[in-house]
Amino acid sequence: MNFRPAIKFCSQCGSATEQAIPSDGDTRLRAMCTGCGMVHYQNPLNVVGCIPVTDDGRILLCKRNIEPRWGKWTLPAGFMELDETTSQGAARETDEEAGADIEMGRLFSVISVPRVAQVHLFYCARLRSETLNPGYETIEARLFQPADIPWDELAFRTVSITLQRYLEDRAAGSIQVHNIDLT
Ligand SMILES: [Zn+2]
Repeated sequence: MNFRPAIKFCSQCGSATEQAIPSDGDTRLRAMCTGCGMVHYQNPLNVVGCIPVTDDGRILLCKRNIEPRWGKWTLPAGFMELDETTSQGAARETDEEAGADIEMGRLFSVISVPRVAQVHLFYCARLRSETLNPGYETIEARLFQPADIPWDELAFRTVSITLQRYLEDRAAGSIQVHNIDLT
């Protein structure tokens, strides 16, 4: 399966790579440098985000101003950076996409999406203020009553599943942690 373009050149020495199985007991084809021998492993990426909720239960969604899924609604989320923890990344994305003042809560969902080699993690979050200041990645940031969530206009399946499970838990009076495999 090709999730991402194959690595063609070595990031260490710039030589061409070739697809080969490293001789250390590995079983998969890797991009191996024909010059220095460096093995370029490719592994899933983490997407981190949160479910920002006002004290009266409204949920913050952002209308995407970027591809993919331009114009669709999402929970604030994005790729984790190298120098941060998962919850720090979720907080940063929420600041960048919505300019929202949140108090980060606990982990809510971990969703594996092997088809695109990603793991999505969403945290619970409390919105401290209704003042929003969306950045360039967001056309509009808005608070939705659960009944008004635009289910048909959500950007990603991981977002709709997380919202669905969150609202079910809330209705049942107990917020759980959800480990989901989207295969
Ligand atoms: Zn090399």
